[in-house]
Amino acid sequence: MGLSWEKVDDIFLTKNPPAIKSIYEKPLLLHQGHMQWLYDHEGRRYLDLLGGILTVSVGHYHRKIVAAVEEQLKTLWHTTTLYRHSKQFEFIEKLTSKLPEKLQVVYLTNSGTEANDLAIVLAKCYTGHNDIISLQNSYHGNSSSMMALTAMQSFRQPIPVPPGFHHAMVPDPFRNEWGGCRDCISQVPDSCSCTGDCLSTDKYIDQLKEVLEFSIPNRRVAAFFAESIQGAGGIVQFPKGYIKRAQQLIKEHGGIFVADEVQTGFARTGDTFWGFESHGIIPDIVTLAKGIANGLPFAAVVTTKEIAEAHTKANYFNTFSGNALAAAAGVAVLEVIDDENIQDHCKKIGEYFIRQLIQLQQQFPIIGDVRGKGLMLAMELVRPGTKENLSDDCMIRMHQRLKDLGVLTGLGGRNLNVLKITPPMCITKEDVDFAVSVFNDVFKQFS
Ligand code: PMP
Repeated sequence: MGLSWEKVDDIFLTKNPPAIKSIYEKPLLLHQGHMQWLYDHEGRRYLDLLGGILTVSVGHYHRKIVAAVEEQLKTLWHTTTLYRHSKQFEFIEKLTSKLPEKLQVVYLTNSGTEANDLAIVLAKCYTGHNDIISLQNSYHGNSSSMMALTAMQSFRQPIPVPPGFHHAMVPDPFRNEWGGCRDCISQVPDSCSCTGDCLSTDKYIDQLKEVLEFSIPNRRVAAFFAESIQGAGGIVQFPKGYIKRAQQLIKEHGGIFVADEVQTGFARTGDTFWGFESHGIIPDIVTLAKGIANGLPFAAVVTTKEIAEAHTKANYFNTFSGNALAAAAGVAVLEVIDDENIQDHCKKIGEYFIRQLIQLQQQFPIIGDVRGKGLMLAMELVRPGTKENLSDDCMIRMHQRLKDLGVLTGLGGRNLNVLKITPPMCITKEDVDFAVSVFNDVFKQFS
């Protein structure tokens, strides 16, 4: 059903190329999804290791999510923000039961971009300051202010962005010359005696101090934004202690800490339900999106009562936010995560997966780094024996080949040389074995 392939190809190639981009030579035209599997217009099956970029958190066409949305569809699709419906409150109640006690006020939005935008407004209203710091290599959204907060050049148009945004050095243990303790961020249970106060963490914190000292008027700041693990930036994990010390430092300069949990939230990282928990902190604001409603447009900002009270001088209106269908899906996602022990599953399958990737790394010197935790994993590909990136052309061909052999992965990182693995959280050991055998074939071909 729908348009013929020829027609789609015509729209893609001749009529609308600037607006519709494909990560493959030709657009992957998907027709159907079932849990961790996707099917294209010709019935070819793919293992989805990207999860619709993490959005389909518990699986495509998950029975319980479909049932919850169908049930809601029969009664009420949507009100506006001016009216309320009970699904919103059911969602808020369930969501906040998963968060630290002080994070109890929930704003509903439609996307991660909107959520982070609102977090900026909240931070400025509450602190009375205007400057915001985020980390190099971060991705936080694509509106004009998000283009300023986001520090990946590949997502920034060459246009002026709003003032008052600054980027601190990302504590990237693989890429950054100061390194960082690799054992303490590894999920493979090797013992690590690192206290989190290693020399590299000191240096990254000193660099953040420099940003505060030299770039910010009066050294007073509204907020520091960080992902708990950088997602689009290539699954970059920070050395132990960095986030905790950064939060403390920002507080001393009058600012609050915003945890962008758009990718790391909802049990994906395995050890903890939220990524920030593994840094041993409680943020002042948390932003959520992507997997929150298993693919329906839905997002949230959660904060404290004190911060929210500073934001009451004007209304927050957002036509579609808190959409009834999305809220119903959001409630169902939280139930499924609990009922199906998803967090524990992510931990166990993630550990199995990363061990297989480490074995691949021992065989193939193009795998410069294997990292991540739970079902947020990555391989950074390099020219053997160096840290130089594998060429863009090679990465694109390899990515395409993986697809041709039935495995969809993400391509990211600051140099586009990272294969990202963020599947729906229902993948099995057999799926991991299949993926690893395909990686093996493709790396052989490209080594
Ligand atoms: N924050 C992070 C960490 C993200 O990965 C993304 C999306 N890639 C966003 C924010 C923006 O979310 P959205 O695309 O829903 O606007």
